[in-house]
Amino acid sequence: MAHIFLQPNNTPIVVANIFCVGRNYAAHAAEMGSAILETPMIFLKPTSAIATEAQPIALPEFSNDVHYETELVILIGQGGNNITLENAMQHIAGYGVGLDLTARDIQAKAKAKGHPWTLAKGFKGAACVSKFIPSNDLQNPHQCHFELQQNGELKQRGDTSLMLFKIPYLIHYISNVFGLSEGDLIFTGTPEGVGKLNSGDQLLLNLENILTAHFSVS
Ligand code: MG
Repeated sequence: MAHIFLQPNNTPIVVANIFCVGRNYAAHAAEMGSAILETPMIFLKPTSAIATEAQPIALPEFSNDVHYETELVILIGQGGNNITLENAMQHIAGYGVGLDLTARDIQAKAKAKGHPWTLAKGFKGAACVSKFIPSNDLQNPHQCHFELQQNGELKQRGDTSLMLFKIPYLIHYISNVFGLSEGDLIFTGTPEGVGKLNSGDQLLLNLENILTAHFSVS
């Protein structure tokens, strides 16, 4: 059972499903040579992929090219099916910032063969998350910034106003297709600037200067 923590009292939350959105920023789709899609591309990670700051990131032995993808992460409070665009934001309990770790070499092979991405995206520790802040603490989730520094160097800076599929639509769409439950996480996609992790890296994530998280790579 994977837990995350909701500020300010570090309330433990049991993670239910982990939904991830692919290609949600045009500049990242371009850097991957991928087409922009008409509907969101959703994939899943197992809850065993959750990693918090308490544990160093262990790179999997089966990959030589694990990438960081820095993303705004939504924590669902009240679940639902067929959630309307108008009501979508009311279903959010909190926001965090996370890393959708991706074994890029394995993903490239999977793409070439038409295989699922589970091995590339779902390994132990592949869903790194900060603590979460209550939804009311993020003044404007539709236009906020999040970033990653790798060893003190700025590598990614995202602006949620550049999402191709906005937060209400993602909640609407995922609730229609899969249903949403309390404790679900949605990784909302990465901006451009993805790159390789190396042993010994020190990673600092920041959401709108309200929330930070530090991860080290073992
Ligand atoms: Mg991603």
